[in-house]
Amino acid sequence: MPTESTFLLAGLFLLLAAAGWALGRFGEREDEEPPAPLNIDYLKGLNFLLNEQTDQALEHFLKMVRVDDKTIETHFALGSLFRRRGEVDRAIRIHQNIIARPDLAAEQRDQALFSLAKDYLKAGLLDRAEKLFVRLSQGSRYQVEALDNLCGIYEQEKEWQKAIESGQQLEVLGGRSLGLQIAHYYCELAEASAAAKDYGAARQYVKNAQTGRPRTLRGALTRAHIAQETHDRKTALRLYHRIIDEHNYLISEALPEIVAIYANENQLGDLDKALKSMLKKNPEMNTLVAYTAIVNDIGGIPIIDECVEKYMLDEPTLGEFVDMQSLADGDVSALAKIRKALSNLASTTPRYQCQECGFSSQRLLWQCPSCRSWETQRPASRVQFDTVLQHSIT
Ligand SMILES: [Zn+2]
Repeated sequence: MPTESTFLLAGLFLLLAAAGWALGRFGEREDEEPPAPLNIDYLKGLNFLLNEQTDQALEHFLKMVRVDDKTIETHFALGSLFRRRGEVDRAIRIHQNIIARPDLAAEQRDQALFSLAKDYLKAGLLDRAEKLFVRLSQGSRYQVEALDNLCGIYEQEKEWQKAIESGQQLEVLGGRSLGLQIAHYYCELAEASAAAKDYGAARQYVKNAQTGRPRTLRGALTRAHIAQETHDRKTALRLYHRIIDEHNYLISEALPEIVAIYANENQLGDLDKALKSMLKKNPEMNTLVAYTAIVNDIGGIPIIDECVEKYMLDEPTLGEFVDMQSLADGDVSALAKIRKALSNLASTTPRYQCQECGFSSQRLLWQCPSCRSWETQRPASRVQFDTVLQHSIT
């Protein structure tokens, strides 16, 4: 199947043939010599293309057309076209061919190195891409783009210390704040240290994270987890409550932990009181509490059960399937069945969605894997019936 790049190559061969013919005609007038025959090389190249042997055609083109000031833009255009089409090996071949030119100007060399680095990145050859981006980040007009790409590579490789260094350089050179992004890099280090039970290092990384602006509460979540691990119940609860106060949506992460702490101490009565006073101050959190309880199958705490019941009675989609009013009049076991069914549905549908690009996932991802934004995911506050219905239709 001929591709866009095959047509471009064919076009280039035809252009070269036409140029050769025109030169021949021009020469005839000046020197009174017969016109040059159509160069056999062009025909060879075209023949490769007609037989859909794009690689041979490309090699032929590269041998025929020396990289010089007049043709370099064509080489770059062809290279980026191949990369865009996912034909990365060919893009690499073209950019390497440019770099091999001995008398290449420094600026063109940087452009070719930058293009080659992007080819490697697209091909998933992160080590090679990293080497070139590091070189370009040390002094070229691609410094800022190179550092941005390096951050992306270190994020993929989970090399957080290097990501911090590149991010800090990028802040200086790019003239924009990356406080939130760098804070998350520190949080990644903090979580890794906490997982290895090196709580001292973890606390220090959280401290570093908290200097970033805008502030992330992820550090506070990590500290709360550490407090829980080290049986410092008071600190853990204080932090979880602060997290909910500052970012209501994080109740989806904090509530199951809070319930676990109170349950562990056999003090669910106290939790009931604490939640009641919180919901009195913030009644709009009712739905989030209910949804979090449904998803995590939390029950047996009067105020939470109340939230869940209200949620089910208010759910318009549910009302289309079940006579919710008759249930509200006292059929407790039917309500419990619906609750269980909702919990099962919620566990198979996405719970979080990126506000930037719409990417959704089951668990909270601090960095969106699709658009690379940090802290843009928010929990759903309702069971996604439309998703469930779509699943059952397809
Ligand atoms: Zn996104």
